[in-house]
Amino acid sequence: MRDSKTLLQDIRKQFPILNQKVNGNSLTYLDNAATTQKPQCVIDSVSEYYQQSNANVHRASHALSADATLLFESARSTVARYLNARSEKEIIWTRGTTEGINLVANSWGQQLKAGDEIILSTLEHHANIVPWQMLAQRNGVVLKIIPLLDNGELDLEQFEKLLSNKTRLVAVTHASNALGTINPVKRIVELAHQAGALVLIDGAQALPHLKVDLQDLDADFYLFSGHKVFAPTGIGALYGKEELLAAMPPWQGGGEMIKHVSFDQTTYNDLPFKFEAGTPNISATIGLATALNWLSSFDRSLLEQHEQHLLKTAIDGCSQIKGFNRIGSASECVSLLSFTLTDQHQQDIGLLLDQQGIAVRTGHHCAMPLMQRLGLPGTTRASFAFYNTEAEVNHFIQTLDSITRPTTVAVESNSSPESLIDKLKVISGWNARYREIMLLGKSAKGLPQQLKTDEHLVKGCESNTWLVINKEPNGTLTFATDSDARIIRGLLVLVETAFNHKTADQICAFDVDGLFKQLELDRHLSPSRGNGLRAVIDKIYQFAQQAN
Ligand SMILES: *Cc1c(COP(=O)(O)O)cnc(C)c1O
Repeated sequence: MRDSKTLLQDIRKQFPILNQKVNGNSLTYLDNAATTQKPQCVIDSVSEYYQQSNANVHRASHALSADATLLFESARSTVARYLNARSEKEIIWTRGTTEGINLVANSWGQQLKAGDEIILSTLEHHANIVPWQMLAQRNGVVLKIIPLLDNGELDLEQFEKLLSNKTRLVAVTHASNALGTINPVKRIVELAHQAGALVLIDGAQALPHLKVDLQDLDADFYLFSGHKVFAPTGIGALYGKEELLAAMPPWQGGGEMIKHVSFDQTTYNDLPFKFEAGTPNISATIGLATALNWLSSFDRSLLEQHEQHLLKTAIDGCSQIKGFNRIGSASECVSLLSFTLTDQHQQDIGLLLDQQGIAVRTGHHCAMPLMQRLGLPGTTRASFAFYNTEAEVNHFIQTLDSITRPTTVAVESNSSPESLIDKLKVISGWNARYREIMLLGKSAKGLPQQLKTDEHLVKGCESNTWLVINKEPNGTLTFATDSDARIIRGLLVLVETAFNHKTADQICAFDVDGLFKQLELDRHLSPSRGNGLRAVIDKIYQFAQQAN
């Protein structure tokens, strides 16, 4: 036990980013299912490649290019060995899982005809849904969906009933990125093969946690992303059985994927190059090979045990918290915990955790059909890697617990507009300012239920946000807003304060971005936040311009 503790500490030390402070707090990185951090050896291998070996691969006559090609192809062998593929020819470099699935859909999918069926599951990431929908639109393939049991496991009985001689492909995830469920992929492969169908497995969430042996699993296609296994972004691989890949047409044309090109006829290169048009992400393949070799140097079962211990600690601790609801409780899960807190919006939870340096993911996790099935707009997800510690998990539990406790500080809700902004300006540090804004959000009047209609709903928001605009007899405008996320409600009070009782001219002239920047709240205005604040402000400006 003592030894494994030291080992885990040593492993953690190899991740330089984990020592960072964010907003004055130590970073507690629990967003590993979105992307993992990189060990020093991976970072070094990428930088060494650029310092010592950078050249284009497979082409030039010079020594540097030969060196780069050797590293690049040896990285491919590493992936093949790591997954226990039969040969390097079965490993195609991609930008990641998403690109790999698109490759299969666009290339292998070409042979499918109207009425052929593809079976997906309710647990799929959008990456394993949308490419098949696009294919279905092109050639009339029918998609069938394996339903979900209430505990977050797939309904295998229903799966068996969906299988028929029309089934051409079963495309399912190995582990769910939203609930953690580990699917019985070996059984799924067996059943699908018995029905004469091929199987594609999305391994993006499985590979960081589980040892995968593709000859044993016997899947026909398997995909993963480097960035989720401690390697750089922009690299991943598609594994495909050689005879299948060999029979598939290329999907992107260009250099590298050809043998001979003339304007009359072009012949294609052999596997795996046939599917690798253009200059690849060479440095990332080297980083990926380094990450996999590094992982192989450990006793994986020890790392897995530690991750499962973290998960259990989190589940046990969180279960004591009032209003905590774990979403999904499959008998076998990778180390991630999806949950909701009664009466707390996920956006608020995410922000309050962030204030304590805890990085989690909130939202639909790119699995909207699954959220629909669960009847939830989204969840909060804490995902653990083996470099996380029990102390971090306890910090997470305690912070979550404190979120559910009522705040006692009172705030004057009818302070005059100027005084509110002035007050926020003098508060030092954005953390304290957030606390104030959350309190504002809590005490804000909001809108009466009858005004929270679709007519007033502002589109494009992670939370529901409403805006009502009134023109006063004296020509000024007033705004009333509401949101189901407290942080957004608070920020909207700020917006109201800035704009209310001003004329259209004054509104057009007012620099709200400047104000938010001054208060260090501008990240909430970025278009990618999708929190509705930007949309509300744009709507106000639009209205003022038209009223002008
Ligand atoms: C992350 C993820 C993907 C998409 O991976 P990219 O690296 O973004 O291409 C697909 N499926 C699952 C289960 C994932 O977790």
